[in-house]
Amino acid sequence: MIYFSFVDINTYSTWLEIDLKAIKNNAALIREKTGVEVMAVIKANGYGHGARPAAQAAIAGGATWIGVARIEEALTLRRAGISCKLLVLGFTPAAKVPEAIEHNITVALFDSDLAQNYLDYVSIHGGMLHAHLKVETGMGRLGMKPEYVASFLDKLKNTGIKVDGIFTHLAKADEPDSDSTLRQLAIFDNLLGELESKGLKPEKVHAANSAAVLNFPQSYYDIVRPGDLLFGMSPTGESLPEGFKPALTWKARIISLHNFPAGQGISYGSTYVTSKEERIGVMPTGYGDGFRRAKDQQVLVGGKRVDIVGRVCMDQCMLQLDCVPDAKVGDEIVIIGTQGNETLSVDEVAERWGTINYEVVCGLADRLPRIYNE
Ligand SMILES: *Cc1c(COP(=O)(O)O)cnc(C)c1O
Repeated sequence: MIYFSFVDINTYSTWLEIDLKAIKNNAALIREKTGVEVMAVIKANGYGHGARPAAQAAIAGGATWIGVARIEEALTLRRAGISCKLLVLGFTPAAKVPEAIEHNITVALFDSDLAQNYLDYVSIHGGMLHAHLKVETGMGRLGMKPEYVASFLDKLKNTGIKVDGIFTHLAKADEPDSDSTLRQLAIFDNLLGELESKGLKPEKVHAANSAAVLNFPQSYYDIVRPGDLLFGMSPTGESLPEGFKPALTWKARIISLHNFPAGQGISYGSTYVTSKEERIGVMPTGYGDGFRRAKDQQVLVGGKRVDIVGRVCMDQCMLQLDCVPDAKVGDEIVIIGTQGNETLSVDEVAERWGTINYEVVCGLADRLPRIYNE
């Protein structure tokens, strides 16, 4: 892991700066706001920020659980020395059960046939598989229908699977006025009541993603599961409450500059042609880095918004620098973040790409150096 304080910034041409203090701060704010345990969701390489450092920062901020999507992600974190409680939120293949047991990783259960497959592996391997049962209440994705849950939990008593938790996932928590979230919670509460009365209720209950942390206090239960918010991003498109800080800045440096005469084609297909003498800089970042091959994009140079001209290539793209006449090779470019008085937010970039901030950060390529400030 590379820490900011030890790096000569001239070492890199395009890189991510990850503010671990911001992640720690955001985790602590969520802990304070909700008053319940925080499961930091750091699937997809910690939303592109780097799984291990993001997990460590969230734990430093008070998170007591880490949630991931796949068992491979959980195993990577265990190998990196993360020892806190770990839940795989998605599907775990049965053959991975021995590793889950060995590394004390909790899996999601959502299907009785799959549970039977898990039990076969547990009986060969020995030990106890810990699981949280996922319930379908309206997401239409993974989850056992509520009517099957009580008898399923009853059958699992005194087997090699211990169900320590029960959870559901909200489809529309980003819409504060949506009745459907309240309907999902009512279905879930109903089930919890039934399980309670039958003595079958698992110990830990959870439902809230980032949007629900912001909008639905009645969904907090015992644990909340924020991802986006932990990284200081807004799950709703609305601005975040005071105190939350974005953790990610994406920068590059101008690596080459030309004054071209009128009539110069720029990049593949010469889709942009200079109309007069123009100052064109090269930014060493392209779609191979998770940047998008889209039209009408901007970045910041010298505290000003400058246009990207011509097609974005795999490793480079070109900047029209007429409005920053003193720009020179080596100058810093901000792709996501703040420079001087200008900010290019991850939401602005997402909007330009016709997507959401989640997809922008998950697409940040492995080859981008990530440097961390503590
Ligand atoms: C990804 C995920 C989360 C976190 O969602 P955010 O919107 O990023 O907070 C929580 N729970 C489950 C089941 C998820 O898949």
